[in-house]
Amino acid sequence: MESKRSVGVIGAGFSSLYAACKLALSGYDVTVFDKNRMVGGRAQTFTAEGFTFDMGPSWYWMPDIIDKMFEEIGVKRSDYYNITQFQTAYQVFWKNDPATKVPADRKELMSLFDTLEVNGGQKLDKFLQDAKIKYEVAKPLMELPGESLSELMKWSVIKNAMKLDVFKSVEKDVANRFNSDKARNILNFPVLFLGAMPDEIPSLYTLMNYADLELGTWYPDNGMSDLAKALEKIALENGVQFHMKSNVLSIDVEGDRVQGLTTSEGSFEFDFVLSGADYHFTEQHLLPEQFRRYSEKYWSKRKMAPSSLIYYLGMSEKIPGLEHHNLFFDEDLKEHGREIYENPRWPEKPLFYSCVPSKTDPKVAPEGKENVFLLMPIATRIEDTPEIREKYLEIMLTRMEEQLGMSIKDKIIYKQSFCIEDFKSAYNSFQGNAYGLANTLKQTANLKPKMRSKLKNMFFCGQLTVPGPGVPPALISGKIAANLIIEAS
Ligand SMILES: Cc1cc2nc3c(=O)[nH]c(=O)nc-3n(C[C@H](O)[C@H](O)[C@H](O)COP(=O)(O)OP(=O)(O)OC[C@H]3O[C@@H](n4cnc5c(N)ncnc54)[C@H](O)[C@@H]3O)c2cc1C
Repeated sequence: MESKRSVGVIGAGFSSLYAACKLALSGYDVTVFDKNRMVGGRAQTFTAEGFTFDMGPSWYWMPDIIDKMFEEIGVKRSDYYNITQFQTAYQVFWKNDPATKVPADRKELMSLFDTLEVNGGQKLDKFLQDAKIKYEVAKPLMELPGESLSELMKWSVIKNAMKLDVFKSVEKDVANRFNSDKARNILNFPVLFLGAMPDEIPSLYTLMNYADLELGTWYPDNGMSDLAKALEKIALENGVQFHMKSNVLSIDVEGDRVQGLTTSEGSFEFDFVLSGADYHFTEQHLLPEQFRRYSEKYWSKRKMAPSSLIYYLGMSEKIPGLEHHNLFFDEDLKEHGREIYENPRWPEKPLFYSCVPSKTDPKVAPEGKENVFLLMPIATRIEDTPEIREKYLEIMLTRMEEQLGMSIKDKIIYKQSFCIEDFKSAYNSFQGNAYGLANTLKQTANLKPKMRSKLKNMFFCGQLTVPGPGVPPALISGKIAANLIIEAS
């Protein structure tokens, strides 16, 4: 009997986990190595003083895509975990004006936009109809492996791609349709997930507004780790072996083929290797130079999505006035953007995001207490010291106190920060980025780093490859990479 072909997977982020499930279901012998103690990659959790913190992603968007990804590996997501939609998707704080709560209900949302500008509801309706077309057209395009331009030159793709407005920016599209600052800010916000300013992101990505305002913001019963744990369970059920706290030290090559991996536990031989770890790290640190597809010069020219300053805070009391998701848009979005992309430095007047999962999930904080996650996007490659982190915590908390009209600083009973240097040490992240490459036109589709290595039996997946950053795209990239391995076998 022919023995099973083996695959060694580097990393246990969402892309690697999905690829591991798909490959195991297709008859491969799969072993996953991750340097961290738990699966999920950037979606780790930790518990301290009775608080449980989701360390990375907190917005569960595009539930339709995630459900479909489960179906494609033969299971139902609902058999693994439950999700609930928020009726108030999120809250936006403005300067000198009351906060806006963005409702899930379409009629309420249209009424809200009517209060923001004349015919706002009607304009929004038309905008979301157009965004829906982009979402539906883009879904199959997201699954293209990005191997060559010819994938995009097929008539069926070109015909549909014309509907995508790739040469107009999100900002222009939004500004042409809406004139109030608030409507514009609400509609420009989701693309910030894509790691560039709205004036640089192709209008195709208004599909994110459809995901935001039409498909809604959801929460798994135990936070984002539910998705990672579900994929881990499916993988284990199908024979995948996990080596956690196992650092891959080198990819071992003979001739034009990978032989296996050397890890902190020893050496392992594989027929194929798939890396879902940071692409730059994998090539520059694990592969001998002659087998690297990209040079340091190439990487130095990439435009990275931001890094983040994150604080995980435990509060002694509930903080009224906050929702599960809160955007502090009470300073100028463009100015902060310039300090990330054009003139990289710590921002003068930052915008930031606060997730308070204890508002809807009592399990994440002791009774009567509040779990607060603060995230401020910053440029990669800037200085990161404990003093700077503290300075910006003070700025964010002062702004929250002003907005909420109450003291907050004196309620902190637990505090932990995470920033550029931690992204590097925890995830080997290139320049300490949080969300991979910026999704500008020049770094989209086949212009992203290739999934196929120079070596015949080695592949890449993850947020630096197609289709890009975010949890649903990471899952899709795992699927595409697994298919490439299956084709190459
Ligand atoms: C703070 C933050 C907030 C986010 N918010 C959202 C959100 O709300 N919604 C959303 O959809 N997306 C969000 N994202 C983006 C999303 O989390 C990522 O795009 C996605 O999780 C990336 O998955 P991945 O598989 O590419 O890799 P990663 O999650 O980066 O996993 C790669 C793994 O490889 C491991 N590794 C690296 N080197 C080695 C080595 N040598 N040996 C062994 N293992 C190694 C790393 O430790 C890591 O565990 C957020 C990201 C961050 C950081």
